Amino acid sequence: NETSVAMVGLGSMGLGMAGTLATKGFSVTGFDLSPARLEAAAALGVRPAADLAEALPAARFIVFSLPTARDVAGVVEAHLPLIGSRAGGRVIVVDTSTSEPGVSRDLAARLDAAGHGFLDAPVSGGPAGAAAGKLAMMIGGAEGDLALARPVIEALAAHILHVGPSGAGNVAKLVNNLLVAAHMITTAEGLKLAAAAGVEPEAVLRVLNAASGKTFLSEVHFPTWIMSGRFDSGFSMGLMKKDVRLAEALARESGVELPLTAEAARLWEESAGALADTDDFTRMGAFKPAGR
Ligand code: NAD
Repeated sequence: NETSVAMVGLGSMGLGMAGTLATKGFSVTGFDLSPARLEAAAALGVRPAADLAEALPAARFIVFSLPTARDVAGVVEAHLPLIGSRAGGRVIVVDTSTSEPGVSRDLAARLDAAGHGFLDAPVSGGPAGAAAGKLAMMIGGAEGDLALARPVIEALAAHILHVGPSGAGNVAKLVNNLLVAAHMITTAEGLKLAAAAGVEPEAVLRVLNAASGKTFLSEVHFPTWIMSGRFDSGFSMGLMKKDVRLAEALARESGVELPLTAEAARLWEESAGALADTDDFTRMGAFKPAGR
């Protein structure tokens, strides 16, 4: 039926999205490789599926929240004949993973050839935004497919930004996360300078947030997760490093030289000795690279 959604990936973001859709009246079937995540989803009113063969065929909409483009492409390629096999008609795949523009374009073409739609629809807003249905969603894909997916997208997102054709959503997301990665470093360096010059970093942070040096990082991440010592934003070092690498790769493919991006990318990679991929990415705001 028109409200059946298969949610593939029930991690930090996918679990909240699945719960939001269930709360808003969609009939949600969830799948994750982790039994613990399936159990958590069941507690939110999501029907846990044993495998993709159970989750996909009846779904009118398929929403992905997987770590990488490769994970999403792997599922679509292995299970393409299952998509829409019971639902009939045009199924819309909404990929909320932070992925690669080229992979999104390929998947959109393959699904279109099979009579289905694909939107790259990466998100911003973290696990809290996912659980509240208040994400910012940046979308690449055809207008008609977006129109079909609107009910699902409106349930998940408070800000819906149609950026352009397939791949455009992921270009916008990689630019966004590149800036987050850079602001993490520049804000940490600014506060380090304040402390070295004998002024409390907390006092300078208050100044930034009332003045023109503020960013979302200075307003939210530094006070909430870094200066507080909590480091539990729900976004991992491994995923952020993936996004920085993808932004660098996009710059190379696009033939632009971005010196500050290259330096930021180097610093994120350099952290690997001290910070694990499973650490929260906000640890980078307190990370002191050797010799700095
Ligand atoms: P996560 O690692 O918490 O969750 C990913 C989930 O996918 C895990 O539960 C894992 O078991 C599952 N999984 C992996 N491969 C699978 C497969 N083949 N089939 C079914 N399940 C599979 O990651 P996350 O933080 O929820 O991020 C998901 C995506 O959203 C990533 O692309 C990330 O970059 C992006 N993102 C994350 C945040 C955030 O704040 N966490 C914000 C915006 C975007």
